[in-house]
Amino acid sequence: MRKHIFNAGPCKLPDATLENVSSAVIELGNTGQSILEVSHRSADFQAVHDEAINLFREVLDIPADYSVLFLGGGASLQFCMIPYNFLNTRAAYVNTGTWSTAAIKEARMWGEVDVIASSEADGFTYYPPFTIPADVDYAHFTSNNTIRGTEIFTDPDSPVPLICDMSSDICSRPVDVSKYAMIYGGAQKNIGPAGVTFVIIKNDMLERVVAGRIIPTMLRYKTHVEKGSMYNTPPCVNILGVKETLKWIKSLGGLKAMEKLAITRSDMIYNELEKSKLFRPVVKEGSRSRMNIPFLLREGHEGLEKEFLDFAKSRNIVGIKGHRSVGGFRASVYNACSIEDVKALVTAMQDFAAKH
Ligand code: PMP
Repeated sequence: MRKHIFNAGPCKLPDATLENVSSAVIELGNTGQSILEVSHRSADFQAVHDEAINLFREVLDIPADYSVLFLGGGASLQFCMIPYNFLNTRAAYVNTGTWSTAAIKEARMWGEVDVIASSEADGFTYYPPFTIPADVDYAHFTSNNTIRGTEIFTDPDSPVPLICDMSSDICSRPVDVSKYAMIYGGAQKNIGPAGVTFVIIKNDMLERVVAGRIIPTMLRYKTHVEKGSMYNTPPCVNILGVKETLKWIKSLGGLKAMEKLAITRSDMIYNELEKSKLFRPVVKEGSRSRMNIPFLLREGHEGLEKEFLDFAKSRNIVGIKGHRSVGGFRASVYNACSIEDVKALVTAMQDFAAKH
């Protein structure tokens, strides 16, 4: 029996992705070869790659003057590639938790970092407002904080190239891509399996690479753009997984439909947390993520943590143990998480509360 999966990433994927990737592992189309065997230089794989990129362009409405790359190395490699390529003297970063802190650490190796807003003093429990200065090389922020469960839903105005880590909310709402110089993230939450990183980069950024800096070939965006994201062997099966997931997103009505579902799912959980006598939300209203919902036991009930995890497990609910830095529980409700999955969780919370 399929479980109710609330993992933070890798996470639940659509049945269509699992079925179509499984079938391609046996045979890719009528090629007589598995997706695991086919040459990445073949027309058969090129068709998969092109379709993945075209679907991404269509679903996210990516303007023509942007390139789409599918790379290895995770979002974490982007933390280093961004400053390596673009940080000449000073960059602006917003600090909203573990992942933006990691991005800041890498940037500091290449220049000065101006932390223009931070919610650290408040345990990262809200999304701080920020204004981007004009005298920096670029500005960087994380639109959804997977661990802390905060998110912003606007595409900020910026006088400098704007770069966003959208690892955990990509394709969960329509985005005005034209406001960004670059959007990147790991695919393993909303758009596919682990092992592939997406990069959407405005082509004029390639002219902004720090002059005179020696950048290793693989770490240069230009290398990958010039080779149509096929400079080296790409993660073929993962790209197929992204293609199938984007096809599924499109078939349901695209990002407006994903946004509506995300609002429904997260409202169901937050509403329960607000009224529950046993559980409470962590994040302040106004900053609450639609993707990752950390929650705690109310005062006096903290000892029930393990019992609730076991209770949830008995109802086939997995992946709700909270991140160690927040404690308690976290429900990650990405695109493929169904309303039925959320109902199962909310009912478990209600039944458990009734027991105590
Ligand atoms: N940024 C965010 C917002 C994340 O959630 C994660 C991973 N959970 C990362 C970056 C790091 O991604 P990766 O593991 O793909 O390097």
